Amino acid sequence: MRNLATVLLLLFSVGFSRAQSDDNKVMIIIIDGARYTETFGDPQHTYIPEMWRLAGEGTIGDKFYNNGITVTAKAIPALWCGAWTAVLDTVYQGSSTNYAQKPTIFEYFRKDKQAPSEECFYLLKYIADPWLPSFDADYGPEYWPEVYSDGATDDDVAGNTKSVIDDIKPHFLWVYLADVDHAGHSGDWENYISTIVNADRIVGELWDYLQADPFYKDQTTLFVTNDHGRHDDQHGGFQNHGCGCEGCRHIEFLAVGPNVKKGFVSDVYRTTPDFAVTASFVLGVDPAKATGNVMYEIFENEAVESYGSSDNLFFTVAPNPADENSVMTFTLQSASKVSVVLSNIYGNVLFKGGEMTMPAGEQTLSLRELGLSGNLPHSGMYFLTLNIDNAASTLKIIF
Ligand SMILES: [Zn+2]
Ligand SMILES: [Zn+2]
Repeated sequence: MRNLATVLLLLFSVGFSRAQSDDNKVMIIIIDGARYTETFGDPQHTYIPEMWRLAGEGTIGDKFYNNGITVTAKAIPALWCGAWTAVLDTVYQGSSTNYAQKPTIFEYFRKDKQAPSEECFYLLKYIADPWLPSFDADYGPEYWPEVYSDGATDDDVAGNTKSVIDDIKPHFLWVYLADVDHAGHSGDWENYISTIVNADRIVGELWDYLQADPFYKDQTTLFVTNDHGRHDDQHGGFQNHGCGCEGCRHIEFLAVGPNVKKGFVSDVYRTTPDFAVTASFVLGVDPAKATGNVMYEIFENEAVESYGSSDNLFFTVAPNPADENSVMTFTLQSASKVSVVLSNIYGNVLFKGGEMTMPAGEQTLSLRELGLSGNLPHSGMYFLTLNIDNAASTLKIIF
């Protein structure tokens, strides 16, 4: 049933959604080596009052795990790549360092969005020879982030992050805080705890800083995680890490943003490779060579939740990345009423079409036949939902 009012509403929502999805920003903060029992694994959240405050506005992943190697040199590249990757030695511009064999989220972002390096910042303390992203033939140095490696402490990195927010306003910021791991290795519990409290304060401050800036306010998704935890008390205690114990593997996951569920605790088992893939999803880019999965369960969008299929209803769209000539293919067990919905990653409906009865058997429909040709959205990632009688199936579509 469509009347003039619904049509006008749809037209309005298309315009609004486009403006919103084009302005999607992401900040990622990595706190190196905080053990889960000192972060969200502590029911009193004694040392993380700020992240606990943000959790009220967002989602905690209670079963987020480093499922590979629990050392920084392997786990940070895995967080970048959305995949466990070989980390290889090289000499680059006269310095000995190493690089990730697989492409990183920075490269996916800059290539897919055709974004200049100022749109993508990697902030960390001063390191003479920072680890490098990939030399992948399809991505590589041309798409690396702007690396801002300066200062000695987490506070220095936080200050530099605020300067970049003020002066440059990138869409994508990755902030690496190293102090907790160093303090942990000292074996001094008080020192270790004080760096966690400080990193927590920085997370809260940076979030508030973004919310005070109209460029970022209500348009930014923040993700916080760790590369690894530290040994639990049965495996040597907090000073070191690197094994497969619960303490080394269990890490925090916090997300806050416009389409992230509020006050939600997810108990879905998720792992390191899912991190960059989920952030890529929010950025609207395709992490083509990643192995992780999008953590759909953390998002409010209903179309996202129904991602996958119900009642064994499957369909494909080819080619995808799509244009008006792309064709949906699906099989009907019996004559059925068919319709489609295109929505953006916030769940805003951009287009509804089809609404026709089709016979049993394999069916194909081009996006043009569905009436999408005049309504193709801006380039980016969207969801196409196929409704057949009472069943629905959604897949990721890229324009
Ligand atoms: Zn360490
Ligand atoms: Zn361990």
